[in-house]
Amino acid sequence: MKKPRQDGSPAALVDAAADLARLIDGEVRFSPHDRGLYATDASLYQVQPLGVVIPRSREDLLRTVCFAVDYHLPLLARGAGSSLAGQAVNRALIIDCSVHLDRLLETDVEGRTCRVEPGLVLDQLNQKLTRRGTGLMFGPDVATSRHANLGGMIGNNSAGAHSILYGMTVDNLIGLDVILANGKEARLEAGASERDKRLGRLTQDVAAVLTRHADEIRRRFPKTVRRANGYNLDRLLDQYEAGGTAAMNLAHLCCGSEGTLAVTSAATLKLVPAPKRTGLAVLGFPSLTAALEAVNPILSTQPAAVELIDHLVMRTARMNREHAADLRFIESLAADNGPAVQAALYVEYFAASDEELREQLAALARLLPGMPQRHLTKPSEMQRAWALRKAAEPLLHAVPGLRKPITFVEDTAVDPARLPEFVAAFDRIVKAHGTEAAYYAHASVGCLHIRPLLAPGDADDRERMQRLAEEVTDLVREFGGALSGEHGDGRVRSPLLERFYGREICNAFAEIKRLFDPKNLLNPGNIVGPAPMLTHLRVNPNPHELAESAPDDRAAGDEGGLAFPDFTPCFDYSDQHGFPGAVQQCNGAGVCRKRGEGTMCPSYQATLDERHSTRGRGNALRLAITGQFNAGRLDDSIWNDAETLKTLDLCLSCKACQAECPSNVDIARLKAEYLNQHYETIGRVPLKASVVGHTRMLSRLASAAPRLSNFVANSGLARSLMQRLCDIDKRRGLPPYRPSLYRWHSSHRDGQAASVETPTVVLFADCFTTYNEPELGVAAIELLEAFGYRVLLPRVGCCGRTMLSVGMVRQAMRTADRTFAQLEPYIRDTNCRAILFCEPSCAAAFRDDLLSLRCQTDLELRKQAAAKAMLVEEFLDKAWEGHALHPQFAAPTGRIALHAHCQQKAVLGIGSGSALPARLFGERFTALDTGCCGMAGAFGYRPDHYELSHKIGELSVLPAARLLDAADVLLAPGTSCRHQIREGANVQALHPAQLLRQLLVGTEARGKPRR
Ligand SMILES: Cc1cc2nc3c(=O)[nH]c(=O)nc-3n(C[C@H](O)[C@H](O)[C@H](O)COP(=O)(O)OP(=O)(O)OC[C@H]3O[C@@H](n4cnc5c(N)ncnc54)[C@H](O)[C@@H]3O)c2cc1C
Ligand code: SF4
Ligand code: SF4
Repeated sequence: MKKPRQDGSPAALVDAAADLARLIDGEVRFSPHDRGLYATDASLYQVQPLGVVIPRSREDLLRTVCFAVDYHLPLLARGAGSSLAGQAVNRALIIDCSVHLDRLLETDVEGRTCRVEPGLVLDQLNQKLTRRGTGLMFGPDVATSRHANLGGMIGNNSAGAHSILYGMTVDNLIGLDVILANGKEARLEAGASERDKRLGRLTQDVAAVLTRHADEIRRRFPKTVRRANGYNLDRLLDQYEAGGTAAMNLAHLCCGSEGTLAVTSAATLKLVPAPKRTGLAVLGFPSLTAALEAVNPILSTQPAAVELIDHLVMRTARMNREHAADLRFIESLAADNGPAVQAALYVEYFAASDEELREQLAALARLLPGMPQRHLTKPSEMQRAWALRKAAEPLLHAVPGLRKPITFVEDTAVDPARLPEFVAAFDRIVKAHGTEAAYYAHASVGCLHIRPLLAPGDADDRERMQRLAEEVTDLVREFGGALSGEHGDGRVRSPLLERFYGREICNAFAEIKRLFDPKNLLNPGNIVGPAPMLTHLRVNPNPHELAESAPDDRAAGDEGGLAFPDFTPCFDYSDQHGFPGAVQQCNGAGVCRKRGEGTMCPSYQATLDERHSTRGRGNALRLAITGQFNAGRLDDSIWNDAETLKTLDLCLSCKACQAECPSNVDIARLKAEYLNQHYETIGRVPLKASVVGHTRMLSRLASAAPRLSNFVANSGLARSLMQRLCDIDKRRGLPPYRPSLYRWHSSHRDGQAASVETPTVVLFADCFTTYNEPELGVAAIELLEAFGYRVLLPRVGCCGRTMLSVGMVRQAMRTADRTFAQLEPYIRDTNCRAILFCEPSCAAAFRDDLLSLRCQTDLELRKQAAAKAMLVEEFLDKAWEGHALHPQFAAPTGRIALHAHCQQKAVLGIGSGSALPARLFGERFTALDTGCCGMAGAFGYRPDHYELSHKIGELSVLPAARLLDAADVLLAPGTSCRHQIREGANVQALHPAQLLRQLLVGTEARGKPRR
């Protein structure tokens, strides 16, 4: 094979990409933009990789490694990229194993083992094991289990809250199939050295290193339950001393090596029985010290986990809408007339029976008499309590101010018995540097997450970070602890290893590295040969690196720092520390890569492509807006970056990230802002966007002559033209136009007398209800009247939702101002109880988007409008006690199921749609746990979105619709959801108001709209 120039230049990379693409079935991506999306993980760092490979198979993986070896390209195998220490970013060819290499290959239930590919997600493994009825699970349970890959867990030697029972990943690893740095495959396991001559030589060489440094290994390696620093020399030495080279398992050396020794292609894992019963005790303490002092005695009761949260976590929880209620539960644990709770311990027990569980909890109560504690055994209660503990990390990001709890000394581990004195000494260091820290997590194994508050964007704080890290390293050594108990070395701790372990052990690490990877191609610079800690920080990037306008290996210096364009945003970002804060909001933890639960992120769930995850979009926007695709230039071209526009294109603006991303990253808002700036710099709104944005005006015109409009709109010629000019796919049915709801209202309700005491509500006439489905508006009006309301239908205009969805934000602002002017009398009128909506996305506009738009209308008025804006069904439930009338409803014949609209779930909450049917239909009603339907307004109409739109629908909504019986009713408040369900599952979903109107007893419909 001809080897191209390897000078790291873009031209050489393009050559390499073309060669590699010919060799494998998977994808090869070498554009600066694609690489930029893999330049970060969940750490503080940013490094532009050489390229990205997405292998389709083990063969692809092997060919890629051989190719890199042949071409002398550094390699970094990667899973979900949720690492916190910077070990998942590098100037290397990144191999993304998470997309296709995600199979459970074998399960041996009797032997309690399984074999997996490296890209399999931990939760998916455990779900598969449960579905197959094995009663088994993988023991180590990382907090990122929804998206962390087994390959990444092995790379980091990960562990979770139950490590006191199950240990770390290495304790549960039987063997690895790997590709070595010479491109050869090998199976690493105990006894491999006897079967395979090559491995026999390698094992002997490793044994020679171990024996040479045995005394120092015994002296310097900590004896803690948790350790994730350096190579596992102590474990290998134990094995060698117990049974010679035959007993050595090189898989255990690779585990925790952060991809620096070999590339994993499969792993054989031990499984453990899933617990039959679990119970949780939550204990409140008046101080952090009191909580820490209780840990060691509690361990004598043999719990499965002991987890801590401190006052800083509690303080941030108090400010959080979702978790404030969970916190009250903990606050109520204060002793009678005693001081307030300042820290809490979660003590969990696993048992074989209810009786055993009761006994365990009773033993805890006996151990700590008089200590306020609550015992939970119901799954729902435990889940709620755990929700607060699990939210600790993201909650801390909400600490006000620029200093945030950053990750660099965040997982030290010491003997749990020494935690109180260790934490006191740690706290002294932190305070001496003029800041404070949050303390939480795995108290049972002495591995606390300790996050000092610092602002890495500030040069002084960066300096503090370095000194603090060094002092903490010395402190941990003094306590015989581990510098990292779970997150590993990466870029942040590798530079501290020599200080921690000493020169000799670091030399031993380097010898091991040379044995496995003599050319230093595998994730170089991690564990061995690191760069200084403050190099390549994300907040301080090299402006030339991503745009590749200069040699790439220049380290970013203090003169750098992120720069932002000077422009007036359309939205107010004060809730996210301004526009720069919003653009940097994503911490890279990767929750948006979860699969099969929640809604975030529909396009990722359907494509499994990093580019189409919330994180991918967040990264693309940050890099584009800070000029990093542009060599640091902040001119207009930052808003015209074609690749960024492409990355944003598959965002459905569903707003799920706003609700489900723990850091509240709001891509829908940033996308609208970016598109708006894009249109302004190019001086026009493209026709395709304009057609969607002006839906209301076009619908009004079409609805004036509906028959003609429908005839024309459905003609072959018009469909072809619409596909070509307006991006409306021919395969999609268009919603028919109808005489408007206004017409029906003026002929049936105008001039109707009502007493002044009759409570009034306004029905907001959204585009779809008004011009496409007026019968829905009629049902809503008649339903509200049945409850004793007078329903007004003023011509107030549009909420601007369709404009916002395509980024016509300036136009949306003007539209919103006009609408608020028309609505003002109703907003201010105290007799007008509410402004009601059939369409959830329009209600969400009033409750969310219009509040953060920098439009002219007074913010107070907008807030008053938001307070009155509700869905029809939401209002009927919330105001239940105050209705003048309470009509009767017939019992439905089948079950009632609700699929809520994405923006409804994100902004209004699922309760907005489920509370009323639950009240009226009790057990017959279910709120489905469905995600996005894939239609999302006009998104699914576009020819280039058609397939993806259906794929998203097939993830949960369409299968759920098909499962319903003929007598069942599917409720879908969103117009686009009903459309998608009709086309995709051939099921006619109803709006809740339609069903309720149908079931009203003794009230005849008083007038139907004309067809
Ligand atoms: C909010 C948060 C909470 C966390 N909680 C925990 C926790 O409770 N416990 C814990 O241990 N960690 C935790 N982590 C860290 C991280 O999520 C875990 O270590 C996780 O197991 C990493 O999995 P990943 O798929 O994201 O791996 P990645 O980050 O993609 O990779 C991790 C390392 O493994 C290597 N690697 C990946 N695949 C391969 C392969 N095929 N061959 C060779 N090397 C490979 C990579 O090169 C990298 O060095 C947390 C992180 C965050 C952001
Ligand atoms: S978008 Fe949110 S969930 Fe996704 S990585 Fe960023 S912070 Fe995490
Ligand atoms: S708005 Fe929806 S599609 Fe867009 S990034 Fe957020 S979750 Fe994903």
